[in-house]
Amino acid sequence: MRKFFIIGLVLVAALYLLPAAYYLLGDGSSLAIDFEDLTMPDAVPVDHSTSDGNSTDEASAETQKPDHSVITVDIDGKPTEMPLETYVEGVVAAEISNDFPPEAIRAQAVAARTYAVYKIDRGRPDQHPDADVCDDFHHCAAYRDVAVETAAGGDLSRVEQAVQDTAGQIMTYDGDAIAAVFHCASGPRTESAADVWGGDIPYLQSVVSPGGSACEQYERAVKLTVDEFREKVSKTFPTADVSGTPDTWFKASTRSDAGGIETVKLGGVTVEGTAVRELFGLNSTNFTITTTDDSLTFHTIGYGHGVGLSQYGAKYMAEQGSKYDEILTHYYKGATLSVV
Ligand SMILES: [Zn+2]
Repeated sequence: MRKFFIIGLVLVAALYLLPAAYYLLGDGSSLAIDFEDLTMPDAVPVDHSTSDGNSTDEASAETQKPDHSVITVDIDGKPTEMPLETYVEGVVAAEISNDFPPEAIRAQAVAARTYAVYKIDRGRPDQHPDADVCDDFHHCAAYRDVAVETAAGGDLSRVEQAVQDTAGQIMTYDGDAIAAVFHCASGPRTESAADVWGGDIPYLQSVVSPGGSACEQYERAVKLTVDEFREKVSKTFPTADVSGTPDTWFKASTRSDAGGIETVKLGGVTVEGTAVRELFGLNSTNFTITTTDDSLTFHTIGYGHGVGLSQYGAKYMAEQGSKYDEILTHYYKGATLSVV
């Protein structure tokens, strides 16, 4: 029952949050990319056991499980089948630095593999019906061709080793691959899925996450003139009253436990923190604001949506001696390291 309750929450969330999910995306220019922020709202779990309505014996259920050894990737619009492990290498290479500690890269490898399996289990989406995943980080995950990169002299030895060391390992909850979302760096805590996407996911809760400040994007400021600010606001929130001085524009914010702005009153209109992030190109929803008479500055902490594995948190934990499985179970609360 619990599982179906969760599924129900996710489906309800999907109806309301799909448009909002697009607000959450990072700019893709940094080391780490927000891993498909719309994952949670869009989730539709697959029932492996009874898809034909009458197969209940174990052997039959087993044969209906999707093949997880290969994956079809939409690369530049062309479906390309490859071994799952080759795909995982390509995602890890795109998502984390080869210079990170091996245990952090192993954690990232398991997260990437888990997410790929999760996508296979969900079935091919309308966006690319001929492929399980695509190489667009806005929708699935970034991907780099490791063979091409190494042939060109790139060093991805730690990435390759981490994928080999963790081959076949994924994180599961109630026996299913989890939506192993991740981000670059959190403030002192990660965000929960409930606070960011509105649907509670048991393994995506807010947890302490030290080490984010090592990310060079951890603290950032975005400054706008009064005219720039008013122009952007008038297009997106035309009913917001941003006359007067900048110090009067923002009021009555609510924050998640992790510090992210959930809602704020902008010129009298209640807006989501994620919408503010999108509108002004902020690194995160964890922001404060300073003003002068003719300008307004957002000061952000963290980089990304803040849910799930923090890559810089993983780096920090690895440097403190944690193993990759400890990192994963810290960030994916209650999930279990399993064999795919
Ligand atoms: Zn995709």
